[in-house]
Amino acid sequence: MRMFIVLLGPPGAGKGTQATFLKETLKLAHISSGDLFRENLKAQTDLGKLAQGFMDRGELVPDDVTIAMIRQRLTRPDCAQGALLDGFPRTPAQADALAAMLAETGDRVDSVPYISVPAEVLIERLSGRWTCRAAGHVYHAKYNPPKVNGVCDEDGSELYQRDDDKSETVMNRIKVYLEKTSPLIEYYRKLGLLAEVDGTQSIETVEQQILSAVKKDK
Ligand code: ADP
Ligand code: AMP
Repeated sequence: MRMFIVLLGPPGAGKGTQATFLKETLKLAHISSGDLFRENLKAQTDLGKLAQGFMDRGELVPDDVTIAMIRQRLTRPDCAQGALLDGFPRTPAQADALAAMLAETGDRVDSVPYISVPAEVLIERLSGRWTCRAAGHVYHAKYNPPKVNGVCDEDGSELYQRDDDKSETVMNRIKVYLEKTSPLIEYYRKLGLLAEVDGTQSIETVEQQILSAVKKDK
C-alpha cells in the first residue's frame, strides 16, 4: 500500500524542514510544489514563466496548471512507495483533484499533519530563512543555522534568501494562506485525517509528533 501524506500549514510553518527528515524515515518522495515552480523558473520553461508573476506577488498559481504539474510529478518512479506533499494542495479544488488522481491508482491521502504557527512567528521565520540553491534545503539564521555561513550542510551549495521572503510579499502570502488555504484545515478534519501539531516547538519535537500522528493513522 502506498502512503500519501499532506503537510499542511502556513508559509514558514516548517513543512520543508520536516519533509527533509520525514522522507528519510518514511522512505517517501518529497514533492514541494514551490520547489517545482522554482526549478521551472530557473530553467525558464513555459510553466516557470507563467508562474513567475504569481510567485513574485505572493499569489497562488492557478489551480489547473498546478494540478497538472503535480499529476505529472506523481508518475515519477520515486513515488513507488508514496509521497510527502509539501505546499500542495493549497485550495479545496486542488484537494479534490488530489483525491481524484490518487483514486485512479487505488490510493488516497492517509494523513494530514497540520503544523500550526501564529502569524508573528512566521514573519520572523521567513525573514531569517536561507535556502540552498541545489536542492531547496532550508536553514534559519538564528533557529537552524548551517555549520558554515552561507553554505548548505547537505550538499555544499550556496544559500540564498528567496525574493518572496521579503516582508511585503510575506504579508501577502500569509493573507492568501488565510483566505485560500486555511479552509483545508476543516476539509481534512471532516475527513478524519487532520493531526494538529504545535509548530512553535523545536524542530525535533515537531518531527516526533508528526511521526507518531502518521503512524497512528496507518
Ligand atoms: P515552509 O516549508 O512551511 O514554508 P520552512 O521549512 O522553510 O517552512 O521553515 C521556515 C523557516 O523556519 C526556516 O528558516 C526554518 O529553518 C525555520 N524553522 C522551521 N521549523 C522551525 C522550528 N520548529 N523552530 C524554529 N525555526 C524553524
Ligand atoms: P512555497 O515554496 O510553498 O512557499 O511556494 C512558493 C510560491 O509558489 C507560492 O507563493 C505560490 O506562488 C506558488 N505555489 C506553490 N505551491 C502552490 C500551489 N499548491 N498552488 C498555487 N501556487 C503555489
